[in-house]
Amino acid sequence: MLVIRLHIHQGRAQNHLHDDSVLCLSPITVYIMCLSSPSQAPDQSQATESRCNGSCSLDKKGNRSRSTTSSSSIINGELKKRGHSTVARQTKVPERELDDNLGYKEENAVYKENAVKGKKEPEQPQLFQDPEKEEEVYKPQIRWPDLGAQTFLHVGALYGVYLLFYAKFYTFLWVVGTIWVSGIGITAGAHRLWSHKSYTASWGLRVLLAFAFSIAGQRDAYTWALDHRIHHKFSETDADPHNAKRGFFFAHVGWLFLTPHPNVVAKRKVIDMSDLEADAVCMFQRKYYIPLFALCSIILPVGVPWYFWGESLWMSFWINFNMRFTWTLNVAFFVNSVAHMYGNRPYDKNIMSVEAPIVSLLAMGEGWHNYHHVFPWDYKTGEFGNYSLNVTTGFIDFCARLGLASGRKVVSPDMVKRRAAKCGDGTRFLDDEFAHKDQVWGFGDKDLPREDFAELAKMQN
Ligand SMILES: [Zn+2]
Ligand SMILES: [Zn+2]
Repeated sequence: MLVIRLHIHQGRAQNHLHDDSVLCLSPITVYIMCLSSPSQAPDQSQATESRCNGSCSLDKKGNRSRSTTSSSSIINGELKKRGHSTVARQTKVPERELDDNLGYKEENAVYKENAVKGKKEPEQPQLFQDPEKEEEVYKPQIRWPDLGAQTFLHVGALYGVYLLFYAKFYTFLWVVGTIWVSGIGITAGAHRLWSHKSYTASWGLRVLLAFAFSIAGQRDAYTWALDHRIHHKFSETDADPHNAKRGFFFAHVGWLFLTPHPNVVAKRKVIDMSDLEADAVCMFQRKYYIPLFALCSIILPVGVPWYFWGESLWMSFWINFNMRFTWTLNVAFFVNSVAHMYGNRPYDKNIMSVEAPIVSLLAMGEGWHNYHHVFPWDYKTGEFGNYSLNVTTGFIDFCARLGLASGRKVVSPDMVKRRAAKCGDGTRFLDDEFAHKDQVWGFGDKDLPREDFAELAKMQN
């Protein structure tokens, strides 16, 4: 999810996405890129089926939705999983309307919007179908320059921690401050604003967030958001850039120095990014990313302590660039690794993301990750917790008070309860009435889902 990559590119978005050239910054190469490739191909059909399809979801009064048919319920499941409407369909949809390779329906907004705008329809990516064949054809390769960059960053960060004991006090304050500001650039900017459109920001706030995000140095916001949208839309599949099914290390950092799975590359071509392409601030930051990186992520953080309170440049570099940069990077990595593995799943037990308070503490509120994957449009990225475990929400609310942010999108309490009662692991509530609204007394109960009833009727024959 969180990546740093210095691209050399002058061109258009699509060209950039496949540009593997790197920039060497003397005396170091700072180049960390997003990569993904599986050592094995998970059975995606099983993954799909195992997820809560919501076809039996409860209505506002806690009653079951009953208007699906047996065949359409599968489609509803797909739609729900992809984040579309959960309203039950009345008619069976012919299978030919489904685009199997992409998991999209033809009427999916990606295609629809492109068609409306007269854009060329995206090419059909060639995705692997046969897992065994895929295993033969695709093997992840180590990208040695990336591995070297990661090694340099992490070893250098340890040296920075050591030097911190000998640094001036103001240098310590400065590094904490720049970590906080750059963190807000990631969480409130690249994540909640540009990736998820969970609120609207004024021009001034977007400039501020783009500046803060440039301090973090985790690529440009457009590219970051593109990979993050893919992560959400194709979570825990081969197309997920940091697929947590491939283990902790891969999800944490391995994906940055392994060649990406072809499905990741393919999905980058079909995700709709037109909203960001229309955002002048976002595109400016993308166009001038390299000079902005040099200025905001290196020169400014390193130069201020040297200029204003006489810190040595040597110490300032290792502390205010290397250590700060690596710290922020690893906190972001925790969201991809820890918050996809260790914790409760109150809202959907069939996905890997979890509620991880410790990650929320470190990552300014980004650890409520089970909730976030179920309701990615909620600007709070969590149901509970106060500002202490969700600093980013506090920041956005503060900006809203100043008139800089608006249109904050949330989820209704009933919506949360219904989803948690239906799909959660039970930790959301153990005795809440919603948890028991979905029960039936037996065959003949009018609350028996229609699709279940139809299937049972067939089995009786
Ligand atoms: Zn997200
Ligand atoms: Zn995630």
